[in-house]
Parts: sequence; C-alpha cells; structure tokens
Amino acid sequence: MKPDVNDIECKKDALIATARRCFDVGIQTNAGGNLSVRLSSADAIIIKPSGVGFAECTRDNLQLVHLDGTVEPSAFKPSKDLEFHLDLYRIRPDINAIVHCHSPWATGYASAGLEIPCLTVQTMEKIGRLPLIPLSSNGGPQTAADISPFFQDVTVRAAILANHGTIGVGPTLTAAQYLAEIIEETAHVAYVRDTLMAAHGKTEADLPKYATQKDAAADLARK
Ligand SMILES: [Zn+2]
Repeated sequence: MKPDVNDIECKKDALIATARRCFDVGIQTNAGGNLSVRLSSADAIIIKPSGVGFAECTRDNLQLVHLDGTVEPSAFKPSKDLEFHLDLYRIRPDINAIVHCHSPWATGYASAGLEIPCLTVQTMEKIGRLPLIPLSSNGGPQTAADISPFFQDVTVRAAILANHGTIGVGPTLTAAQYLAEIIEETAHVAYVRDTLMAAHGKTEADLPKYATQKDAAADLARK
C-alpha cells in the first residue's frame, strides 16, 4: 500500500520532536544514535539518515524506508543502523518506534562489559530486564543478526549494546524515548550507589530486599 502523505508528515513531526528532546536532555549529542517510527498507512518507517544530528532532523532530511529494505529516493545516506531497525519492526508487530542513543552513563557500563542493574522501582516496573548485547561476532558494532535474537522475547523493551549504546522500543516514540531516558538515569543512579556503598563500606546485605510489591508477593508465594 502507498504511504499516506498525512501519516508521513505527522510521523516526521513526531520524530523531530522526540529527537530534539533527546538532544535537549543530553542523551544524544553529535550525529550519532538513531531513531525511527513505523507508519500506520504502509509497511514502512521514517528514520533519521546517517550524518544528521538529533537536533538537525527536518521533514526534508528524514528518510522513508519500506520494511523490505527499499529506501525512497533521498539525498542522504541511510544509517548503518537501518537493518536492525527494520528487523525489529519485522519480528515485533508491537514495536512502533525505536530510540537508539549513545548516552554516556549507560554506554560507560556497556563499555566496561557490565549490565546496568535495574535498581529503581521505575526501572523494575517499566523495563524489568536490560540485556547486554555483545559486539558483533564479525567485529565492530552490533548488527541485526546480533540484536534481533534478544528482542524475539516480547517482554524485552530495552537493551544495552556493548561499547556502543542503548535501545528503547515501544508502541509510540514517546514510550521508546522514555525508556532511553530511564536507562541513562538508571546507569547514573547505579554508579552513584556503587560509589557511595564502596565509600561507606556497605554490602548487598545492607540493601532493601524488595523494590516492588510484585517481588515481595513472588517471594511469599515461593515459601
Ligand atoms: Zn549507534
């Protein structure tokens, strides 16, 4: 089906607003990272091209790409991340938007080979699991072949890419963006917690046992 013009413009405007917010809150600077949104009127997406910063997205530089990989004519080069975006939309009909950032606190954990612990009640409830996806087995950044297997599990809404960045997915751009922000916030909180615990000689045993009512109920049910 041919994409509807109003749908394209509406999704482009939403993507521009989300990209701007990511830039404003500091989870993506320079021309790195990527974000995309699924069209309602066709099997296609709107995606930021390569070499364009989150703060510089416009209706004229965003690209329209069909889920079969056909890129509509554009003066811009498709993103290196295009394949993994397309693949996630193909395997997960519940995903309508993807926000991929190189946010510094989260990427610090990812570069140290550490999973970001889901510490706060918000992270436990909204994310639950935050898998750390290793670098590509062929060397270099993660490709669709490395990323998609983790998202086959429909409960996975966010992931960390080793030495690279973060991925948040959702039913809307705003939902995916909130995840990208929560991941970064959680990494920052984890770093502060670990630093303070080390400084004050605290161990895991000093921490609260349950962060959510669900955890407490699950533990009670096991007894
Ligand atoms: Zn990237």
